[in-house]
Amino acid sequence: MSEYLFTVPEVYSIPVEGESAAYPVHRIFCVGRNYAAHAAEMGVEVDREAPFYFSKTPSATLPTGSTVPYPPGTVNYHYEMELVIAIGKPVFKVDLEAGMDAIYAYGCGLDMTRRDLQLVAREKGRPWDLGKDFEQSGVFAPLVKADKVSAIGPQRIHLEVNGETKQDAHLADLIWKVDEIVSDLSKFYHLAPGDVIMTGTPAGVGPVTAGDTITGGIDEVGTISLTIAEAE
Ligand code: MN
Repeated sequence: MSEYLFTVPEVYSIPVEGESAAYPVHRIFCVGRNYAAHAAEMGVEVDREAPFYFSKTPSATLPTGSTVPYPPGTVNYHYEMELVIAIGKPVFKVDLEAGMDAIYAYGCGLDMTRRDLQLVAREKGRPWDLGKDFEQSGVFAPLVKADKVSAIGPQRIHLEVNGETKQDAHLADLIWKVDEIVSDLSKFYHLAPGDVIMTGTPAGVGPVTAGDTITGGIDEVGTISLTIAEAE
């Protein structure tokens, strides 16, 4: 098809350290409750049988360093600092080794959340979309190729609001490890380059308001920031 009824939507992408070409985002998968201390603060138990997922629309992608207006429909807008996985080869129903081999790069991400809407949905057994999948809710720092990052585990993952530490953990605290996530998700989807996975957030989530600046980082992977402006 070469003609469309309206302007073709923008391709959203994430820069890659050391590459002039960007990583185009096809899908954004997110893992829920992947740090025990965060599940506890949310008042829920970790399901150790299997990870669970939700997703964000690729057009939710926003680069680090952005300023976003306080989003509509919420009075409890939260940050979630996360390790991001970028898939680099097609995989379907693969084991842990092939799952690890499919990881092209890692990154820092913010899974911005309308917590009030998420919790209403959770309590009513409804989908989380209004709480999780909204415009400018997926913030990404440049990706770092996986071979530049040592084995995932000892790296510190942290987030500050206006310079005050709010989240502080290590990637070793991930309940479902990166290879387990890719292998498990590949049982449900034909994963392919362009698929990114936000791997869950540590304890310490909380609200931000207009005027706040979020900063965060993961050892060896990079840093990320987001500033909140007044609502539109
Ligand atoms: Mn999250």
